[in-house]
Amino acid sequence: MKERLIPYTGQRYECVMCGECCHNRAVPLTKIDIDRLEHHLGEEVDFSEYLVNKGYFVLSRRIWDNGCVLLRDNKCSVHAIKPLVCRLFPFAVYPAPEDPDDTENAYTLADGTVVYLYVDIACPGVHIDEIVSPPSWLLSLVQRIRLEMALTRFYYEDTQDNAD
Ligand code: SF4
Ligand code: SF4
Repeated sequence: MKERLIPYTGQRYECVMCGECCHNRAVPLTKIDIDRLEHHLGEEVDFSEYLVNKGYFVLSRRIWDNGCVLLRDNKCSVHAIKPLVCRLFPFAVYPAPEDPDDTENAYTLADGTVVYLYVDIACPGVHIDEIVSPPSWLLSLVQRIRLEMALTRFYYEDTQDNAD
């Protein structure tokens, strides 16, 4: 699925369970995502790989179809505990606008941080012509992802420093 982001201004979304978003995407994992998945799957299940240039882990993908290794029969096998970024999809968050003209998609989080939200219209569950109020869970989830990713970067940088 090729990403097609547009500024998020409340486009209605309802997942149609097509499984497309579980292919061809690098899904970042927070340290807490990893701990939760390891606890559920057992440490012997290899579901992640480290991106040295990014400083965090992403979900591993299958060689034959570039799908997530946790996808089974086109369904998420860890749905109840899936990574935060999977919960966020089809939305995406950026600290600055992708285009300087993008102003209508600026949202203020509870801690006062302004972020820019986008929605991937390649997802068939997004209704681009139906505008509703952004759901309250969305900004809470964005806040949590930012916090967990910051903690994750700190954790791996610290681990790396201690190993040097
Ligand atoms: S691509 Fe969209 S509709 Fe399909 S499974 Fe993912 S979130 Fe749901
Ligand atoms: S963890 Fe689940 S929702 Fe996330 S990419 Fe893998 S199969 Fe899809």
